[in-house]
Amino acid sequence: ELPGFLTVRDFATLAGLPVNRVLAELMKNGIFASINQKIDFDTAAIVGSDLGLEIKPSQEGETDGDQPQDQKIQEIIKRQAGGTLLMRPPVIVVMGHVDHGKTKLLDAIRNTDVVAGEAGGITQHIGAYQVTRKEKLLTFIDTPGHEAFTAMRSRGAKIADVAILVVAADDGVMPQTIEAFRIIEAAKLPFIVAINKIDKPGINLDKIKQELSSQLNIVPEDWGGKTPCIPISAKDGTGIEDLLDILLLTAEMETENIQANPDAKDAAGTIIDSRVDKGEGPVATVLVQNGTLRIGDQMVFGGTIYGKVRALKNYRGENLSEAGPSTPVKIIGLKLAPAVGEILETGKGEKIKLKNIKAATEKPESAAAAAVEDTTAKKINIIIKADVLGSAEAIEESLEKIGNQDIKAKIINKGLGNINEGDIIRAEAAKAQIVGFNVKPTTQAEDLAREKNVQVATYRIIYDLINDVKQQMQALIEPEIKRTELGKLRILAVFRDLGKEQIIGGKVTSGILEENCFFEVERDGQLIGAGKLLELQAGKQIVKMVDINQECGLKYQGEPVKEGDILFAYKEEKIIKKL
Ligand code: GDP
Repeated sequence: ELPGFLTVRDFATLAGLPVNRVLAELMKNGIFASINQKIDFDTAAIVGSDLGLEIKPSQEGETDGDQPQDQKIQEIIKRQAGGTLLMRPPVIVVMGHVDHGKTKLLDAIRNTDVVAGEAGGITQHIGAYQVTRKEKLLTFIDTPGHEAFTAMRSRGAKIADVAILVVAADDGVMPQTIEAFRIIEAAKLPFIVAINKIDKPGINLDKIKQELSSQLNIVPEDWGGKTPCIPISAKDGTGIEDLLDILLLTAEMETENIQANPDAKDAAGTIIDSRVDKGEGPVATVLVQNGTLRIGDQMVFGGTIYGKVRALKNYRGENLSEAGPSTPVKIIGLKLAPAVGEILETGKGEKIKLKNIKAATEKPESAAAAAVEDTTAKKINIIIKADVLGSAEAIEESLEKIGNQDIKAKIINKGLGNINEGDIIRAEAAKAQIVGFNVKPTTQAEDLAREKNVQVATYRIIYDLINDVKQQMQALIEPEIKRTELGKLRILAVFRDLGKEQIIGGKVTSGILEENCFFEVERDGQLIGAGKLLELQAGKQIVKMVDINQECGLKYQGEPVKEGDILFAYKEEKIIKKL
C-alpha cells in the first residue's frame, strides 16, 4: 500500500527490493529519478506492476501538506458538491515528440472555428482556447511541449480530460512520444493518437501503427485494439474534423468524469499560465474547474488572498463578466503572479489562514529569501537540453543539489530536443553554459556558439554531466586562507641589502620560524609593513625550522628592516572546501 507520493528509496524499502532494481525499472519507463526524488502513486503503481507487485493506494489519511494538489482540487470540488452536476466542455491536451506538429495542430484546430476567427480578430495566446464543434465546446490547452503540463503534473494538478498523442508519420515513435505516453498512462487519461504529416510523400501508416503497438502497446482500433489512430495533416487540414469528432466521442464516453457544478458557492480552478505584464501587472490564466468565477470575486491561493478579480478576458481578448467550468480566462486584478499549477479558490472564511497581501510589489516570502541568498553565493548558470523531460528533470534536480552556500548551479532554462540557435542566444544573454543530454547542437548552433563564445557540452551519461559541472563549480570556490601564528624574531643585524632582498640575522624570542613563512614588521611598537622568508639558515646550514632562543640567518624579502625591528612570523594555508 503506497501513499500518493513517496521517494524512490522509500518505495524500494516498502517493496523489499534493492534501490538499483527500482531505478533500473524506472529508467526502462523513461524516468531518470534519483534515490531521494519523489514519484507519484501512479508511477509507482506502473513500475510496481512491472516488478510483479500488487499496488494499492494506502488508506491512511494523509496530512494536508503532503497531499498532491490534484487530490486537493478533487477535494475542493467534492466539498463544493451537492447541487447539480452538469456536463462541462472536455479539456484536451496535445502531447508528443518535439517537431511532430503539436503547435501546428493546435493552430489548425483553432482555424476550424471560423466564427471565433471572424468575431475576435486577433486570437490571444492565454494558454488555452475553446472551439465549437457540432454545437459543443471543446477546451484546448495550448502550451505545447509537455513542459507546462508536466509542471502541473508535478504539482499534481489534474486538468486534462483527454489527450491527443501526436506522432509524425515521417518520424514515428520517438523518445518524447514514449515519455508523453507514460505521462498519459500515469494520469489515466483517455487518449487518441493523431498520426500527423500524412501530406508528406512516402508515408507508411502501417509502419507507424506497428511501432505504436510494438513499442507502446497501443493497438489501433482498426487493428482490433481500442485506441483511435487518426491520420491527419496539420499543414493542409486533412483529418482535423475527424479528429474533433473522435474527441467528442471520447469525451462522451467519459461523461461521468467531465462534470462540474457551475452553481457551486465558490469557484475553483488551476493556473495554466502566469506572467507579469508591463502594463497590466501580474496576469494569469485560470482554467475554471468548478463553480463560476465572477468579477469582484476574492482570489485565494493556498490560504492567501491575492486580490479581487477586476476583469476577465477570454482567448479572443473579449471581456467576460463570468467564467464557468472548463473556461480558460485571463484574470486581471492579481497582486502577485501565482505559479503555474497553483489552485485558485474564491470566497472567504475558513480557507483564509494567512494575511491579506498588501502591496502589489511585495514578493512572496520564498522569493525574497531567495533574493537574499543570491547575493552571497556565486552562481554558474546552466541551460539544460535533453531528449526527454524525465532526464531533464533528473539533471536539474541533481545539479541543484551539488551547490553549497558559496556556489550554486542556477538552472536558467530546461528544454527538450537538439541544441538550437535560440538556446545559444538565450545562453549568451543569461551568461550561461549549455549542457546537453542525448542531444546534439545543430550545425548553425555550433557556429553561433563559437561566434558568441558560449560553452556547449553534450553527454550520454548523466553522471559525467553532473561531474563536469561539479568540477567547474569546485574550481570556482575561493580557497579559505587559514593563518597560523608561528613566533617572533628580533633582528640583531642586517648583513647585506640586495635590492629587494636583505640578508639579516636575528634571534627567535618566542615560538618558532618555519620555511616559507610570512612576516609582519614592527618598529618601535608600530606595524610598518610586511615581508616573507626566502631562506632560513642556522649554523651555516639551510634549515626548515628554527626554535625559540636560537639565532639564525634569513634571506628576507619585503619592507626593508633595520636592527632592532621585530618580525612576527605566521604561515598561511589555503583550504579548498570540497563540494
Ligand atoms: P511541435 O514542436 O510538436 O510543436 O511541432 P511544430 O508544430 O512546431 O511543427 C514542427 C514542424 O513540422 C514545423 O516546421 C511545421 O510546419 C511542420 N509540420 C507540422 N505539421 C505538419 C504537417 O502536417 N505536414 C507537414 N508537411 N509539416 C508539418
